Amino acid sequence: MTVLSYPEPVTVPARQARAVTLRAGQSVRITDVAGGQVGDVFAYNADDLSEHHSAAHTRTHTARLFPALGESFVTNRRRPILTYTADTSPGVHDMLIAACDPERYAAYGDPGHANCADNLRRAVTELGYAAPLFVPQPINVFMRIPVADDQTLSWLEAATAPGDSIDFRAEMDCLIVVSACPQDHNPINGARPTPLALTILPASSEENRR
Ligand SMILES: [Zn+2]
Repeated sequence: MTVLSYPEPVTVPARQARAVTLRAGQSVRITDVAGGQVGDVFAYNADDLSEHHSAAHTRTHTARLFPALGESFVTNRRRPILTYTADTSPGVHDMLIAACDPERYAAYGDPGHANCADNLRRAVTELGYAAPLFVPQPINVFMRIPVADDQTLSWLEAATAPGDSIDFRAEMDCLIVVSACPQDHNPINGARPTPLALTILPASSEENRR
């Protein structure tokens, strides 16, 4: 994989995405800079983009609808790729909803709107990889999609405060793409898309001693 270093946090501008690479054992912190912003997170095996985080396989692995602190996310080959290790946000994250895409906004009558699917493709190619043909269902950090008793879903405004963050540890060398979701046709971003920030954390001292 391409080895990159990130001495400073990487800003994900509002409505855009950025990709970073992580070595196994490193972590990425995703910070909601202004609060109330959803991030679409995609994770790939850095050496083979045909292997990627799969929400369906992760729900099978964890027997839960939504991410829980301490649990791992697995790939379409059922191997752990990320672990959810820390969280200063209210702890509500979605793993049911597809990334927004050109068709989603065309249906709103707003063709050409920025979207997470195009953001993913652009961010991956900017890092020198071929654009993925398939857009996996993301981990939607800070996104509130409660399931009601009658099993209907609601799209609620993200409850994060400025500076809230979530950490993921890489369980393999991986390519992580985070899109600051540009959705402004429903309430998830408070109709006001804002930036996110990515901070690469070194492997923990406990892991360095192994
Ligand atoms: Zn989106």
